[in-house]
Amino acid sequence: MDRIFIDRLQVFGRHGVLKEENTLGQMFFISAEIFAELRTAGKNDDISQTVDYGHCCNIIKDICEKKTYKLIETLAENIAEALLKYSDMINSVKIRVDKPSAPIGLPLESVGIEIERRRHTAYIALGSNMGDKNAYIRRATELVDGDDMCRVTRVSGLINTRPVSDIPQDDFLNGCMEIKTLYSPEELLARLNEIEKELGRTRDVHWGPRTVDMDIIFYDDMIIQTEKLTVPHILMHERAFVLEPLCEIAPYKIHPVFGKTVIGLLSELKGENKNGI
Ligand code: ADP
Ligand code: MG
Repeated sequence: MDRIFIDRLQVFGRHGVLKEENTLGQMFFISAEIFAELRTAGKNDDISQTVDYGHCCNIIKDICEKKTYKLIETLAENIAEALLKYSDMINSVKIRVDKPSAPIGLPLESVGIEIERRRHTAYIALGSNMGDKNAYIRRATELVDGDDMCRVTRVSGLINTRPVSDIPQDDFLNGCMEIKTLYSPEELLARLNEIEKELGRTRDVHWGPRTVDMDIIFYDDMIIQTEKLTVPHILMHERAFVLEPLCEIAPYKIHPVFGKTVIGLLSELKGENKNGI
């Protein structure tokens, strides 16, 4: 992919674990590779269609000078996040922090770190079966979009479905959204849970009624299985109320475990239902 590069921007900072480093400060050199599609700008000779590297340099300088971090890891993480937030055109960034005067007491040219961070695409299933279901789902999408680490890029239509649980409860309104996010999968789950809570979700009864439920269906093509998180969602292929709205916004997205498209999984599920299996 095309990239813009910034080589060894010299900045002064007070980052370090030692107290002297925080008071005296030292020079740091920051290099960045900014991956973005540059062809459109190149064809049109138009700065509004590219990433302004001057602005990127100023973002880096501000972060280095205005705050003090113990770790250059944190410095790099903050620079990467700020650049990705600055422009949606940036797909990923590589940040290198050189700290040539690190107080090590040995002759060396430089020490430092390099990290690579990028925007991720996730699909979130939405469900509500309490109160003003439509409003809860709309509010949930607004709160996700309002988080500066996320952007909602597509939202499906909403469908009415019967609850699958044995617990007597109202019908559901279900939908799906596509988001771009800078959160890791675990961070995203925690943020979604926070928003559920903000919207009055309680977890008294498992599979009981809820103001809003947000499940991570896909996160890029990652396969994750931890105590807290299974991605792709473990039951998504058995649930028409997930597949139908998902199919509206991502019919050809391939399930990374089954190797099948969303539209294929939906037609399999419908076929099975027809045969009464
Ligand atoms: P439901 O199964 O109806 O979505 P909850 O929303 O209460 O029920 O979720 C139960 C647990 O499922 C959560 O605590 C969460 O840790 C776990 N979980 C595992 N995988 C996922 C996923 N892909 N998306 C959301 N939650 C998940
Ligand atoms: Mg859930």
